[in-house]
Amino acid sequence: MKIHKGDTVLIISGKDKSRKGKVLEAFPKEGRILVEGMNLRKKHQRPKKSGEKGQIVELPRPIHISNVKLVCQKCEKATKVGYKSKIKNQKSKIRICKKCGQEV
Ligand SMILES: [Zn+2]
Repeated sequence: MKIHKGDTVLIISGKDKSRKGKVLEAFPKEGRILVEGMNLRKKHQRPKKSGEKGQIVELPRPIHISNVKLVCQKCEKATKVGYKSKIKNQKSKIRICKKCGQEV
């Protein structure tokens, strides 16, 4: 998957459009990521002890990666991800920023 845990992404659609956040978790099978503070859903939490009040907590829900763009840590622009081999003919590839060409 093009987006990894720990990346910074820009949201490009939905109610959090044009906000940036950090990827907390990546789910490659579903093509989704969990972004800090984005796509929040309110959840009612039951009181744990009697006498305590129940509360509403906001939890982030995973976003599909087609709704985000990677923010390059080198040039700080939202970019497409490219790939290139570090050493010629080697299988392992590194991600590069298509704006500045740096490894991301
Ligand atoms: Zn860049």
